[in-house]
Amino acid sequence: MKENIFDAIVVGGGHAGIEAAFALAKQNFNVALITLNKNKLASMPCNPSIGGPAKGIITREIDALGGVQAFFADLSMIQVKMLNESKGPAVRAIRAQIDKDKFSKIIGEYVENNIYITVIENMVDSLIIQDKKVKGVTLNSGINIFSKIVIITTGTYMDSKVMRGNEVTVSGPDGDSTSSKLSENLKENGFDLMRLKTGTPARVFANSIDFSEVEKEVLGLEDLTFSDYSNVKLKSQTHCFLTYTNEETHKIILDNLDKSSMYSGLINGVGPRYCPSIEDKIVRFQDKKRHQIFFEPETSKGDIFYINGLSTSMPIEIQNKFIRTIPGLKNANVSNWGYAIEYDAINSLQIKKSLESKIIENLFFAGQINGTSGYEEAAAQGLVAGINASLKILNKEPLNLLRSDSYIGVLIDDLTLKGTKEPYRMLTSRAEYRLLLRNDNADIRLAKYALDTNMITKIRYEEIIKKYLIISNKIHELKKTYLSSTDPMAVKLNIFNGQSFFKILSRPEINVDDFIKDFKYKDNLLTHIRLEGYIKKQNIAAKKMIRLEFLKIPQDIVYNDVKNLATEAKQKLTLIKPETLGQAYRISGINPADIEMLLFYINTIYTK
Ligand SMILES: Cc1cc2nc3c(=O)[nH]c(=O)nc-3n(C[C@H](O)[C@H](O)[C@H](O)COP(=O)(O)OP(=O)(O)OC[C@H]3O[C@@H](n4cnc5c(N)ncnc54)[C@H](O)[C@@H]3O)c2cc1C
Repeated sequence: MKENIFDAIVVGGGHAGIEAAFALAKQNFNVALITLNKNKLASMPCNPSIGGPAKGIITREIDALGGVQAFFADLSMIQVKMLNESKGPAVRAIRAQIDKDKFSKIIGEYVENNIYITVIENMVDSLIIQDKKVKGVTLNSGINIFSKIVIITTGTYMDSKVMRGNEVTVSGPDGDSTSSKLSENLKENGFDLMRLKTGTPARVFANSIDFSEVEKEVLGLEDLTFSDYSNVKLKSQTHCFLTYTNEETHKIILDNLDKSSMYSGLINGVGPRYCPSIEDKIVRFQDKKRHQIFFEPETSKGDIFYINGLSTSMPIEIQNKFIRTIPGLKNANVSNWGYAIEYDAINSLQIKKSLESKIIENLFFAGQINGTSGYEEAAAQGLVAGINASLKILNKEPLNLLRSDSYIGVLIDDLTLKGTKEPYRMLTSRAEYRLLLRNDNADIRLAKYALDTNMITKIRYEEIIKKYLIISNKIHELKKTYLSSTDPMAVKLNIFNGQSFFKILSRPEINVDDFIKDFKYKDNLLTHIRLEGYIKKQNIAAKKMIRLEFLKIPQDIVYNDVKNLATEAKQKLTLIKPETLGQAYRISGINPADIEMLLFYINTIYTK
């Protein structure tokens, strides 16, 4: 039946799913977006915020690549700030509090108005596979939907179980249904699944919080957005509030540790190291007398607050006890109790850098199902999967983002070459070229990729090129403009031998406004001036890696035939099947001598 045939099927309307659907729609492909609840697209079961260290830069990169998370985040943000403003530009990142209902609603409206996206509210139970190629999916209702490409973005729903104390509920997040049959079907088709876990804290009604006992985080209005397209100017900042746990809180939790699903052994799934539950924090840092707790408004109504820092899998009666020990929450009226959720994810070593599966052709995976954690990480993968699915249909080479041009490149490289055993969250420390991967230059770093994949227009591309031309012309001008030693400013700055403006401005204590007036891209310019040396060094290091990145490895190579290759290297290369020498180089356990052997073999002995 014609209505059951699409160019592509996206399973799951979460953060990854909507990016994939919009990317395919942007290429005029007909997309079936199959999801459990069409009124809950891109829902936020965890903190009502987007961005933060490294994550905020990923959202900027999604915007630069023609994705949508940044745009929708701007349209629904209720607070925005630049983190690490006082630190170097490499770690500065935007973080915004999001009205999570408005975020989901706006996305629902844009999806509904997009003629290329058809939303089907149903559960996918299995894949239709012929000769190791996916042809479509079978719904819980037994109906078959056919397509050239399938992208699975089922998040934390795969055979998920919600846990509080010794209470186990077969359910998805926030009472949604779980997706057990698809997990089984993936296993039957040769996919390794692993058990992961994440958790969330209680939510409390605002009218039961005593705000006189907590610290209000006062923020000035900042003209900040994630997207270069949204033109959003926040008129007022909604506030978060800071409070702390105390020894009484810690005592209740330690005295009842065996009642926590995590500590009673009920949970097998591995949790996120960098997003620990309150139990984990108290056990791991027993010397700490208190832990920070942030009250974050869930929506602009401000009627319910997310209690950030109190994620837990304790039974309700214990949560009820320890919550009341926290200043501000003595009379807390809880709207939703905290819980942990255990779910299946696939072994990400089974997918290529394009996010297409290595064992079933035309089948792509994106989001939490690949072992990551976070809205930003999920959306980035959804976007790349959507772009690469389009390129696959058009029979074109996939988009291959590098570690030196984006955090998204680092994310996908780590997943597909190193894999992960716990929920993978992006951190600045994961990016060896982080000085190149800044909040301010996401547009120029990804513009060519976005143009070549038809994700931005030629006009937009030229605007970006023009911006950076203006910046580099200004740098040129500043290098050629000298402050004579007789100039009063030179005297004030103790400059005796005439220095270029560029040299003067590289000094952090210099007030840039004394030398540069009315220049639109002052931040970019200053970053270039003050980091020039470091950026040059990182570019040189990156260029060395890029050389290896384009040396392709024939995919039918038999590593056991490569003489003098270490046994460990033979095993790992056979398992992971890297596509380039650069990728092989980054697999842990592969050393430079192995790469030399491989290069020699490919160039001399290897015959098709
Ligand atoms: C309780 C909880 C706590 C979390 N805590 C954190 C945290 O502390 N830090 C953090 O960074 N991240 C956290 N997260 C993770 C964050 O929510 C996810 O990273 C993000 O939502 C992943 O996006 P996604 O698109 O991969 O999947 P999801 O947002 O989970 O979306 C999956 C979509 O797939 C649909 N779906 C599932 N199965 C099927 C099927 N068989 N057929 C059709 N549709 C299907 C669902 O309806 C849903 O729309 C938490 C998540 C949960 C649930």
